[in-house]
Amino acid sequence: MHQTLLVTGGAGFIGSNFIRYWLEAHPEDHVINLDALTYAGNLASLKDVEANPHYRFVQADIGDYTKVRKALEGVDWVVNFAAESDNNRAIHDPGIFVKTNVLGTQTLLAAARDADVKRFHHISTCEVFGELELDETRLFREEDPYMPKTPYNASKAGANHVVMAYYYTFKLPVTISHCANNYGPYQFPEKVIPVFATKALRNESLPLFKSSQNKREWIHVTDHAKAIDAILHRGRVGEAYNIGTLAEKSVEDIADAVLTTLEKPSSLKTYIPDRPQHDKRYLLDPTKIQTELGWKPEIDFDKGIRDTILWYRDHPEWWEPLIKKSS
Ligand code: NAD
Repeated sequence: MHQTLLVTGGAGFIGSNFIRYWLEAHPEDHVINLDALTYAGNLASLKDVEANPHYRFVQADIGDYTKVRKALEGVDWVVNFAAESDNNRAIHDPGIFVKTNVLGTQTLLAAARDADVKRFHHISTCEVFGELELDETRLFREEDPYMPKTPYNASKAGANHVVMAYYYTFKLPVTISHCANNYGPYQFPEKVIPVFATKALRNESLPLFKSSQNKREWIHVTDHAKAIDAILHRGRVGEAYNIGTLAEKSVEDIADAVLTTLEKPSSLKTYIPDRPQHDKRYLLDPTKIQTELGWKPEIDFDKGIRDTILWYRDHPEWWEPLIKKSS
């Protein structure tokens, strides 16, 4: 059965990789990319798919009911990536995070309900569960209470509550996934891996937060896309799934991987003050998606990170204009 997907935020990092993956894995399906093209949206990330007759782009804000409702005509599945996604920016302007991530998601849900879609899949994050201590043995489970500590995390937790309210109250067929930190090509150079890679390539210093032993769990963006595929095809409506890999690396490990891969000296590392509420650690328990849906990550971290760093080395035409624009 062929599907038509509306992918929101498809001009961003994960959304663009997801669209590329989907059109290859499901060439009979149709994909509509709905994106407001904020600073983080970049259609250059989809140059190779723009001529595909099964792909279409619509510029719209997920908070614009009229445009979204029109774009939803004939759509079977919605995958909602659209969000303000940067913790650092959220400290300076929390309001836009609530506006897009909570109110925008609610408007999208309302339009999806009116359009009678068969599935609304919402992309959430491990960060809704709060933070773990560095030596804690607990993992986040899907049913754990949300305990967000930053404006970005709070807005993502708020969105999850609204998504579930549409499931219980209006019977909208929803699913949610909580994902670990993604890495891969086409990530905006404000996030740690592209920042480190693009700075090292220009022989500039790499800014590590002072708590450089803080850890993140890493997943390659293609493994993430495959997990969403599994949830859309086989996931149970009304359920949330953790998409975790158990591959934990500190900020220091990431900086070392970048410097080693690019053969740059470790003297490029510099230490900067932590941002307020710099969460120490997150770790997802992936048992549910592994046992219920048979998904597991396929890309080994050491190989995936190396290929990613080399992708930034080999594609300055993609990232240089973004750095010029934001400086
Ligand atoms: P991103 O910032 O690279 O992309 C976000 C995209 O959403 C951009 O194309 C932007 O133009 C678009 N957008 C923003 N506001 C919009 C609006 N109001 N209407 C329509 N489009 C809008 O983000 P990303 O890293 O690709 O993350 C995608 C999703 O995955 C987000 O929901 C994020 O919270 C979630 N997530 C990300 C990670 C990660 O490691 N990057 C981890 C877990 C979850």
